[in-house]
Amino acid sequence: MSRAADFTSLPKPAQANLRKLGIIDAQGLLLHLPLRYVDETHITLVRDVRQGDQVQIEGEIVHSEVQYRPRKVLIARLQDDSGQLTLRFLHFYPSQIAQLKVGRRLRVFGEVRGGFFGWEMVHPQVRAVREGTPVTETLTPVYPTTAGLSQASLRKYIDWALDNAALEETLPAAVYTDLPGYAESLRALHRPPPDADLYALQERSTPAWQRLAYEELLAQQLSMRRHYAKRRSLGAPALAPSKMLIPALLASLPFALTGAQGRALTEISRDLAQRYPMQRLLQGDVGSGKTIVAALAALQAIEQGWQAAIMAPTEILAEQHLHKMQSWLQPLGLEVAWLSGSQNKKARTLALEAIASGAAKLVVGTHALFQEQVQFARLGLAIVDEQHRFGVQQRLLLRQKGQPEPHQLMMSATPIPRTLSMSYYADLDVSVIDELPPGRTPIVTRLVADARRDEVLQRVRDACLQGNQAYWVCPLIEESEVLQLKTAEETYALLQASFPELHVGLVHGRMKPAEKQAVMAAFSRNELQLLVATTVIEVGVDVPNASLMVIEHAERMGLSQLHQLRGRVGRGAARSSCILLYQQPLSEMARQRLKVIYESSDGFEIAQADLNLRGPGEYMGVRQSGVPMLKIADLTRDEPLLHRARQLAEDLLRDHPAAVEAHLQRWLGHAAELVKV
Ligand code: ADP
Ligand code: MG
Repeated sequence: MSRAADFTSLPKPAQANLRKLGIIDAQGLLLHLPLRYVDETHITLVRDVRQGDQVQIEGEIVHSEVQYRPRKVLIARLQDDSGQLTLRFLHFYPSQIAQLKVGRRLRVFGEVRGGFFGWEMVHPQVRAVREGTPVTETLTPVYPTTAGLSQASLRKYIDWALDNAALEETLPAAVYTDLPGYAESLRALHRPPPDADLYALQERSTPAWQRLAYEELLAQQLSMRRHYAKRRSLGAPALAPSKMLIPALLASLPFALTGAQGRALTEISRDLAQRYPMQRLLQGDVGSGKTIVAALAALQAIEQGWQAAIMAPTEILAEQHLHKMQSWLQPLGLEVAWLSGSQNKKARTLALEAIASGAAKLVVGTHALFQEQVQFARLGLAIVDEQHRFGVQQRLLLRQKGQPEPHQLMMSATPIPRTLSMSYYADLDVSVIDELPPGRTPIVTRLVADARRDEVLQRVRDACLQGNQAYWVCPLIEESEVLQLKTAEETYALLQASFPELHVGLVHGRMKPAEKQAVMAAFSRNELQLLVATTVIEVGVDVPNASLMVIEHAERMGLSQLHQLRGRVGRGAARSSCILLYQQPLSEMARQRLKVIYESSDGFEIAQADLNLRGPGEYMGVRQSGVPMLKIADLTRDEPLLHRARQLAEDLLRDHPAAVEAHLQRWLGHAAELVKV
């Protein structure tokens, strides 16, 4: 950049406020784009307004009062040549009371609604004017802002940046033949011309928006590719394909791998043989059989003299993995170690020793795996189950246990929709298990209003008396873990009382691991017919004889959570059902979620619907993963641009390295930062 507008020349308090918005320099100001626009270019008469219109009205205050009942509210009446409009403020300052005094001439802007007193506006924008003051000629941008920074000041600083910051192109002109230039686009968005189309601007479908969305997507692609290239330059143990251990385990299994499992294993095995670290996601719907594939991958590392680790997000799940791994690996003469936060000191010391000496070939555990004291002799492969449950940082800590960098296999039943895998997750290689093991019968899902609970109880009794097992999932109470626990205990007591002829168990997150384990083991052995559980059983739990699940307050749960929970049944040959109990009335969002889960059992479809309903930020759990989001581009709307950016990124990296640097410099830290997986 040739000319740099000096951000530090702005007033200090303004700089501090701008930082709160993530703006740290002039480019940041330029790329802080309007959230929406308001049309103050003409004045509407009260008699011409329609319900829901966003309009500007000018008139004189003819009445103003503060009412105190039922709550404090400031009400004023504005009169123009054609009628009256009520202005209503539920929160207000003394200065606003003064501004709305009788006799004042005002321009107000807002949405009109038909109210008790005729048309009204709630919390309109208000500006004092003299009669005959000309209206603004262009649409007014409205920016995301923060307390202490007014729209007017923000506009002023952005104007300053537009006039002073470097606006030159970063990439060769040939890249954007059909789109306007960078400077032109920024001006069009910050200072829309008089003939601008409000609707197209709001929809972000104008060429100027497209141009910037494209730039942003391109920056994301470039940074992902650079990251990819960097990973390939790191060294990792090249693990030759297994000749003994994998064939031996395969021969001992009571089943053959499905075609999809076989393909995934081939892809993983090929990656492991490379001299740079694998970073592969093994994605397969609940029950598709990811665990055995992970075990086989571990064997490839072990056969070459390296260790493998499997980390799971909950004790229940980790413990279940431990049992499976032991049953598979111990007959091959391989030691499996166990690490969890709750094990006693002696067991832990022994495990740590076996891990450090290399005697333990496979280590299974929870978050305890990446703690400081854990030293591996030679970690060659790190496997993370239910990867979305871990943060970027946690996965990184586990990886750092290997020297050189170990290979990484992540597993998840929550699929990554296509647009996300091409953007945020472009650095990941993905293997998909898109086939369930044979002999599974589809799960029947029913939506039942809570009022019909008695029928559901009857269903549970019948199923259990016929030799089946059932889960009863207690409601999720996000606000309070204590309340959640209380509800679970009450439900347990109630169900025990309702079913004196059945053995009922309870498992929840606050139980001691040993207690949890005892309950799960009893349920696995069919000593308990009904298991009352909180959502702790959401991930991974595998009891094939369980064929009925009741989920209470299903309307409170997220889509992927419901899908995961439901996946706990339908694992054996018996016909399984999942009953979703819901409480009326349903919010629109809850209604849509339940509709999706009722209509689909396909993890991909459900994930796509979830993404559409919640948007990528919520979907990926930004708070947890720390992934910076695209600010301008919208993956659904801009998918064609995403494809274009993907194609272009490679050419640019090859032919225009300097331009790539300049482009990343401009965009990184503003919008499309690298995602580290
Ligand atoms: P998930 O992919 O949800 O982690 P699991 O690995 O727990 O699924 O597998 C679910 C169940 O299917 C387990 O009981 C597992 O032993 C069994 N399984 C896995 N692969 C096959 C197969 N190819 N044929 C039959 N059963 C299988
Ligand atoms: Mg699993």
